[in-house]
Amino acid sequence: MNILVANLGSTSFKFRLFRFDGAGEATLLAKGGYERVADQGKAIDDCLAELRAAGHVRTAADLHGVGFKAVLGKNLTGCVLADDRAIAALEGMREIAPAHNPAYAEGIRRFRAKLPGVPLVALFETAFYQWLPEAATRYAVPEAWYQAGVRRYGYHGASHKFIAERSAELLGRPDIAARVRHLYPAGPTPADPARPPFRVISCHLGGSSSVAGMRDGVAIGSSMGLSPQSGLPHNNRVGDLDSAAVPFVMKTLGLPLAEVERQLTKESGLLGLSGLSNDLRDLRAAADQGHARAQLALDVLVHSARHWIGSLFFALNGCDALVFTAGIGENNPALRAAICADLDQLGLVLDPARNAATRAEGEISAPHSRVKVFVIPANEELVVARETRRALTPPQ
Ligand code: ADP
Repeated sequence: MNILVANLGSTSFKFRLFRFDGAGEATLLAKGGYERVADQGKAIDDCLAELRAAGHVRTAADLHGVGFKAVLGKNLTGCVLADDRAIAALEGMREIAPAHNPAYAEGIRRFRAKLPGVPLVALFETAFYQWLPEAATRYAVPEAWYQAGVRRYGYHGASHKFIAERSAELLGRPDIAARVRHLYPAGPTPADPARPPFRVISCHLGGSSSVAGMRDGVAIGSSMGLSPQSGLPHNNRVGDLDSAAVPFVMKTLGLPLAEVERQLTKESGLLGLSGLSNDLRDLRAAADQGHARAQLALDVLVHSARHWIGSLFFALNGCDALVFTAGIGENNPALRAAICADLDQLGLVLDPARNAATRAEGEISAPHSRVKVFVIPANEELVVARETRRALTPPQ
């Protein structure tokens, strides 16, 4: 069974093709992508031409499903057929995820037109948080705001779900790994009361960043709330901000609302703090040369990551594994060291040599560290492919 996973941005198109064997194990056959995409229809054609040329997919009949890592739907989450209902749900929340929801709504339409007969499936990034305790989902706003959809959703669900499963495998908890693998659609199976709870804090640090906490493989909290621009500072998006800031700058700086929104989503985050770049590599190089605002941007990212890790550490009553993933988390030993500094009283000690050397999967904590610290490369697309296959495979 061949499953194509499409990762769509407002101007980018990335794809991966997986092949599943009869036992449900996936092999990555191809991956690729295009930047500065003006026409998603052309990107789909180019992608299919690449897969044809490589001999993976001769006709549309060789493609058994397409999975989309969709972001947020109005009154819809989980892993669902990407049909008119899903498109309407995406469009109903376009204001909250303007860089992604319109791209997915349009992309699904274009795939449907190009590949009639190939089933399309959407896994929402919010799906992993369906079992959050209610108090962790609510803002203290008037009821009408809540009814309109103003609540904490949580994002990067596919990434954190992969970390929940993989960390359980690495720490010898196949019971938890299986629980995570089969979370959808029915929700968690009862955890084995005879086993100790398995507590993981996952730090997805990349172009956008979030920290999530999982107990026995099920999310209990996330740094991301209503929108994917909340929580930690992102590349050029703001992260958490006191709601009073918006009316304040509108009144004192005379900025219209559209301009405030543009600045919060395009000129804030690491770029806004540093005044230099939204890319961590540039910030690290500049900070090493003495650029004070680049160093400040790094410091704020570390401070915010520690804030959220601390909050989830408390909510979980400790932590068995702290995991770093995504572009920044996988490639920045100095940032990992700063996030993990001075936590020995909480039982967390890095091994400096292991940390410095690790850019692929590996443990980076000291042998005596009670909290195990890992780097695990992100693998969101595999989660989307597996869920797409599951959604398209009738129960045995
Ligand atoms: P996205 O969220 O857009 O998928 P990524 O997970 O690729 O982004 O993360 C992008 C961030 O990761 C950038 O800030 C980039 O500087 C950082 N990054 C990626 N690769 C490296 C690397 N080899 N060394 C240092 N930082 C890196």
